[in-house]
Amino acid sequence: MSAATLADLADPWAYRTLGELCDTIGPRLAGSPAMARAVAWAQETMQAAGCDTVWTEPVTIPHWTRGREWARCTAPVEFDLVMLGLGLSDGTGPEGLEAEVLAVRDFDELDARSAEAAGRIVLFNMEWDGYGPTVQYRSQGASRAARHGAVAVLVRSVTANSLATPHTGMMRYEEGVPRIPAAAVTVEDAGRLQRLADAGLQPRVRLMMEARNRGETVCHNVIGEIRGAVKPQEIVLVAGHLDSWDVGTGAHDDGAGCVIALAAARRLLTGGGRPDRTVRVVFYTAEEIGGIGGTAYRDAHRDELPRHVAALESDSGAFAPAGFTVQGDSLVVAAVAGHALAVAALGAGKVSPGWSGVDIGPICKEGVPGIGHRVDGSRYFDYHHSPADTFDKIDPGELARNVAAVAGLVRSICADPVALRDRGRSAAAAGGGMQPASR
Ligand SMILES: [Zn+2]
Repeated sequence: MSAATLADLADPWAYRTLGELCDTIGPRLAGSPAMARAVAWAQETMQAAGCDTVWTEPVTIPHWTRGREWARCTAPVEFDLVMLGLGLSDGTGPEGLEAEVLAVRDFDELDARSAEAAGRIVLFNMEWDGYGPTVQYRSQGASRAARHGAVAVLVRSVTANSLATPHTGMMRYEEGVPRIPAAAVTVEDAGRLQRLADAGLQPRVRLMMEARNRGETVCHNVIGEIRGAVKPQEIVLVAGHLDSWDVGTGAHDDGAGCVIALAAARRLLTGGGRPDRTVRVVFYTAEEIGGIGGTAYRDAHRDELPRHVAALESDSGAFAPAGFTVQGDSLVVAAVAGHALAVAALGAGKVSPGWSGVDIGPICKEGVPGIGHRVDGSRYFDYHHSPADTFDKIDPGELARNVAAVAGLVRSICADPVALRDRGRSAAAAGGGMQPASR
């Protein structure tokens, strides 16, 4: 392990900084007063970390507030459901609503039982099948059920494991379909309602949600830059998203990613001087409610995107480092694999083609090579979007290894005589040997 990496591992700054964000600011829903405090905190912290320039950029976002909410099974037996309204859901109105529950396992069962859905609360009790396939019930469930006449939806929390934790997240209403309230319930409560329904006991639920969509508001991306010593016009972007859900304290998702990005940039300065290229740290806003900060960044920086030689996003939590995925052509993937050799001893040497990140996705589509920071994903969704995503779930050793891994990779990319972006482009110009990385 290099001396620089050993010094990175010994630095407690990231753990202290993440603790400060989680414990003194707490949950930071985009558009909330807490998020505004987080934006101010981020500017101060970037300055303290040694950034030469720090600024914010406005982003127009939907303004959603949760308000109070509850759900209760009223028949055949009374019990409170542990629930969380889904982000961007409408509320129930002050009276709430009550209806019999139609429990289904998937969209096919809902379609087959369409005649039973009218006037009911549809419960999607889908099995966990990995995040991508399972999360569609959260994002599309309300409109799918409303098309059949349902009055509300409950969605089993999107997680493989549960200790009665509800997991929220964003949902979307389809145009032209009635907007009905949508809430997540725990795996445990979904199972109980399903068993009551299967036994023919016709469970009923009373649901009250004060959630409101209040039009638009303005939030901010926060950007800090360390000017390059040799090629300051060439930018290596390192990012996470500062917003979180309004429960827990956004420790793994994605306070950790922001702190890993900034701590890694800081390590370039403290561990041997100014990087050759400019390192731009971006804390995006409103990732959770539609990746809006990422789109706004692309639109505001279109002119200088050709000067972005690479973008890296950390948004998978701070578990043990597992390597990097690369959104770019095969020669860019190979070049990143070369840079990652420097951090192989940390467990971060594995590089494969794949997804970069929600926030950097829009600029990667415009040709900026994208790098996704990968970690052990086995426990991430246990905490994701739930009240359990708190600072105590962060392992200081694993966080330090992630900072060292990202710092080592960025250090190597900044020092490369050939810009990462040109690795692919020059091959394309030569016309030989390049294969599309993704289709
Ligand atoms: Zn995230």
